Amino acid sequence: VKTLYLYAARDLRLVERAKPTPGPGEALLTVTAVGLCGSDLHWYAAGQIGIWKLGAPIILGHEFAAVVENGPLTGKRVTVDPAIPCEACEFCERGLQYVCPQVRFAGGADFGALSEHVCWPEHYYYPLPDELTDADGAMLEPLGVALHILELCHIQPGVTVGIYGCGPIGLLLVQLARMAGATRIFATDKLGHRLEAARGYGATDLLLADNREHQAILSATRQRGVDVAFEAAGDNAAVATAVQTCQPCGTVVVVGIAREDEIVLPASAARSKELTVRIAHRMNHIYPRAIALAASGKVDLRSLVSHRFPLSEYARAFDVAVNRAGLKVVIDVNA
Ligand SMILES: [Zn+2]
Ligand SMILES: [Zn+2]
Repeated sequence: VKTLYLYAARDLRLVERAKPTPGPGEALLTVTAVGLCGSDLHWYAAGQIGIWKLGAPIILGHEFAAVVENGPLTGKRVTVDPAIPCEACEFCERGLQYVCPQVRFAGGADFGALSEHVCWPEHYYYPLPDELTDADGAMLEPLGVALHILELCHIQPGVTVGIYGCGPIGLLLVQLARMAGATRIFATDKLGHRLEAARGYGATDLLLADNREHQAILSATRQRGVDVAFEAAGDNAAVATAVQTCQPCGTVVVVGIAREDEIVLPASAARSKELTVRIAHRMNHIYPRAIALAASGKVDLRSLVSHRFPLSEYARAFDVAVNRAGLKVVIDVNA
């Protein structure tokens, strides 16, 4: 089966390997659609993510849909939860599987979605309703992440929010914040086409990120600031914007993955306003809710997918994604 391995930074190779055999409680899946995530791009561009460095070659990809080849859901299209917690430790027992120290997560080791087949435990995938395409199925992972991010703050009807960074997660946050009742949504990005997308999803105020946007946001809110500020760019300039523009006693949610593995925030502003800073990590048991939301049409996943490539064109796919030329890049593995 064709499998894409990352050997080193910018060194991807499509390799033929033996078809994996499912273990007890697992099924063989035929992978259909895989979304490229910002975290995949960190691995690809730098050969590391945070403190984790590439050792043996890894298989990227954790946002994916597949078809089940054996077991109870044989023949069904499914969306796959990339996290496999141990289900035995204290944190799993407490219902905090997403911070399980023993969690196995697709895309950072010798198992990932960019392969024609993967084996997966039966509890960690969900049937895709007919309304949702395979690419939608891949997008349910970032939607789940965005839903989890929303659980870390309180968005009440009528609030003002700032979303700093308009990649796929930021754009999902725009949609969800609007749905949750935010009436004014400031969105920033360095890329014009991403700001245009944010406008389409309901952002009311668009600002090019140039390290001065906090002044415009503060003056637009008469120096009050936003109720909730989301950092979704993975850079400390956006963290600073979030801290500078958040109202006193408000919440800043840090979502992005900083390249330097350091989150730096302006301490005086954070302290004098006694901000709550939440740092988001993946998600817990959210797939059923993400599926229901997407199937109802209340969240638009489809228009977030700007590019699709067959697996054989992986080089172009990663090039487009790393250059942020569109929004979400999806690889159709068995196309
Ligand atoms: Zn992801
Ligand atoms: Zn555990």
